[in-house]
Amino acid sequence: MSDTFRFKLDDEPGRLAALRRYGILDTDPEKDFDDIVALVKSIFSVPYAAVTLIDADRQWMKAAVGMAPMECARDDSFCMHTIRGLEPLSVESALDDPRFIDNPFVTSATHIRSYLGAPLTTPDGYNIGALCILGTEPRVFTEADKAVLVNFSKVVVSQMELRQAATRDALTGAMTRRNFEDQMADMVSGDRSGSLILLDVDHFKSINDTFGHPAGDEVLREVVGRLMACIRSGDCVGRVGGEEFALLLPEASANKATVMAERLRRAVMQDPLAALENQRITISLGVAERRDGETAEAWLKRADEALYEAKRTGRNQVVQAA
Ligand code: GH3
Ligand code: MG
Ligand code: MG
Repeated sequence: MSDTFRFKLDDEPGRLAALRRYGILDTDPEKDFDDIVALVKSIFSVPYAAVTLIDADRQWMKAAVGMAPMECARDDSFCMHTIRGLEPLSVESALDDPRFIDNPFVTSATHIRSYLGAPLTTPDGYNIGALCILGTEPRVFTEADKAVLVNFSKVVVSQMELRQAATRDALTGAMTRRNFEDQMADMVSGDRSGSLILLDVDHFKSINDTFGHPAGDEVLREVVGRLMACIRSGDCVGRVGGEEFALLLPEASANKATVMAERLRRAVMQDPLAALENQRITISLGVAERRDGETAEAWLKRADEALYEAKRTGRNQVVQAA
């Protein structure tokens, strides 16, 4: 890994995109992460340990021990200070540290007095969260303590990478087609309502021909980043073809999904793309709300027909399925 590629501390949009590519926010607890925090808690003999992820304005916990995993405002989090640096952050006496003296975890019944956090640094150089331990007494942390926690933070990132490789497309971070279809199948088997948006990049072949395949790849990453920035938690984005993507919106009516599709269309075309010498691109979209009792295949087929109609009648538009 080259040094220039290594750490990107000042690129907040890139950091958030990297976090979203893992598709881990708001997911259920998983044993692999629970095991790591349990081990760390016992090694350090602390009351609390957690894997935290720092989202745009909140801290969310993938795993916690000693407390239930929870969410708090980003400004109240200790770990948001940790992700600003390359080294572990130690707080040996929170009451003597102006950054934390008023922190709700210090002033409340949680009574936090000491903290050690190691950033979770992704292979592409972003600090997306931290592995941390918290204590209710002041504590001096040694260099050896820090080294141990840093090593465990690398295990956490490896686990996130493994998890992602199993379910996510390597280029864009969207769900794989297989995983996306599994999500659809879950909705169908639970007979839950919702809508599907299928979208395809317009004239992508000529983008590749003009700017080259690597630039095309960069565009696909950027498109997915823009899609992911628009969706709500609980929605899924999948890569269902080369330059074709699908969104699953649980509980959304056709009209709500069409509003979302319009938002996606505008988000993709709004800003020019550096990889294309500041040209813009457009997408075409088809929207279908699931009908009562409809199979996944039939539902997908109606969304596909709507997308085809959007292409046929001029591209850069949204068509709602009949
Ligand atoms: P339309 O507006 O009708 O969708 O035109 P189009 O040119 O986008 O459609 P077409 O399906 O003919 O072309 C899709 C192209 O996408 C062809 C293929 O080479 C390219 N493609 C598929 N997967 C990838 C990829 O992973 N990276 C890059 N750079 N190109 C890809
Ligand atoms: Mg296309
Ligand atoms: Mg296509």
